[in-house]
Amino acid sequence: MIDLRSDTVTRPTPGMLQAMMAAKTGDDVFGEDSTVNDLETRCAALFDMEAALFCSSGTQTNQIAIKCHTQPGDEVICDADAHVYQYEAGGIAFNSGASVRLLPGNRGRITAAQVAAAINPDDVHKSASKLVCIENTSNRGGGSCYDFEALQQIQQVCKEHQLGFHLDGARLFNALVARKETPEQYGRLFDSISVCFSKGLGCPVGSVLLGSKTFIARARRFRKVLGGGMRQAGFLAAAGLYALEHHVLRLETDHAHAAVVAGALRDCHFVENILPVETNIIIFETKGITAANLVARLGENGIRCNAVAPDRVRFVLHLDITETMVHQLTNNIRSL
Ligand SMILES: *Cc1c(COP(=O)(O)O)cnc(C)c1O
Repeated sequence: MIDLRSDTVTRPTPGMLQAMMAAKTGDDVFGEDSTVNDLETRCAALFDMEAALFCSSGTQTNQIAIKCHTQPGDEVICDADAHVYQYEAGGIAFNSGASVRLLPGNRGRITAAQVAAAINPDDVHKSASKLVCIENTSNRGGGSCYDFEALQQIQQVCKEHQLGFHLDGARLFNALVARKETPEQYGRLFDSISVCFSKGLGCPVGSVLLGSKTFIARARRFRKVLGGGMRQAGFLAAAGLYALEHHVLRLETDHAHAAVVAGALRDCHFVENILPVETNIIIFETKGITAANLVARLGENGIRCNAVAPDRVRFVLHLDITETMVHQLTNNIRSL
């Protein structure tokens, strides 16, 4: 079985499991888990931000961030394809009581001009624009990356209008590796950053939220109110520390695999068009078959993947897809 449904399906490697088993732990709600504390300190230093908070998921880090940045009735500006809007169960409304302004971006990416035009005037009829949320890489954009200058321009607009600037960086490390950028560059740009360890980095659980000391102190309270205070979480944080050491640079392999698979898809009769492949995600439009039917056909051939629209299929490359599997996969789809 070749499972391309998501980069979340990875299993911890023997080395990662060993690191988890050996973790020193304590009660993290009491602040006594030294491995969690290490991971938070390491991440804050990596991004040159003041503080970090280890959470159970990327949805939790995003939702806590939005809660910290807004009051009920405020407005969040993001791309129409953003995970915070599409895949977090209405959490912006549920947790923060905030409204959302959706912008039509280019493969999940919005521009400074779009943001500037979407900011509400100071008018009693309008909700108060408070936060801009961007996603890098963009999931529904097919793993697309922002140009760094485009992000600097959005930051400028946020500063001029006193808006918070949050990064949903579930796959930020894929962008950093693909664009040869550094975490500190991103730390300087955003008020808050969420990064996932359970995606390309191959951990079983965990995301980290980064921000200023005061921001993270408030975030810690919201994590508790959401029921996200974990106890001996060091077993999980140890996987994160291991991944930072061993699983960041290897993301290049996933990107190279994605390029090879996209090359094979280009010749397939059932492929209409492939979104540009920049990282580990491939999204293609189907021809002569619906996405659901193609997913079923592929399933019969030992390839698991997802339909992300009636005519769009997504393949995600990850740690558990070996070079041998990539060969099997390309042979398999060519003969379909
Ligand atoms: C996966 C993902 C998240 C977080 O998802 P969880 O399953 O809650 O960890 C957030 N943003 C993006 C863009 C994602 O792809």
